[in-house]
Amino acid sequence: ASGSVRVPWGDPSGSRRLPRMTEPIVVVGAALLNGGRLLAARRSAPPELAGRWELPGGKVEPGETPEQALVRELREELGVEAQPAERVPGEWPLRSDLVLRVWTARLLSGEPRPLEDHDELRWLTPDEVWDVEWLDQDVPAVMETVRLAWGR
Ligand code: C5P
Repeated sequence: ASGSVRVPWGDPSGSRRLPRMTEPIVVVGAALLNGGRLLAARRSAPPELAGRWELPGGKVEPGETPEQALVRELREELGVEAQPAERVPGEWPLRSDLVLRVWTARLLSGEPRPLEDHDELRWLTPDEVWDVEWLDQDVPAVMETVRLAWGR
């Protein structure tokens, strides 16, 4: 109602979601593209995520840009050098304090190997992209990536 005070910590009507009190930690996901294929990585841990596929990546550390985090994570997890290209529009909540944002990236050098967190990698063509069981939270991110990268 007019004149009512809007407090940031609650909404008596319950008509909108509560605003965040702290900034979420950004997890960067890499949509690594090479030769018209997208890299998918199968998680080996933790048990509840093992066997499901994701865009490789991880948390942005203090003092890092998301692009720097993406380069670091691909070096650590896959042993490759990559160049971030475009932000994939959107962001997807992982847990209450984590949000997934995705960039496309080009492979500069190296052949990806599952060095940590993953036990299998696949380069997927547009026709194969839904053949793997993506993590639930990665599905909308992959949909947007497919739209951006391949116009599908
Ligand atoms: O790899 P790291 O532990 O830094 O990832 C942070 C969190 O983000 C993990 O809980 C992981 O499951 C999640 N994640 C995700 N989708 C991705 C990459 C990471 O849900 N594509």
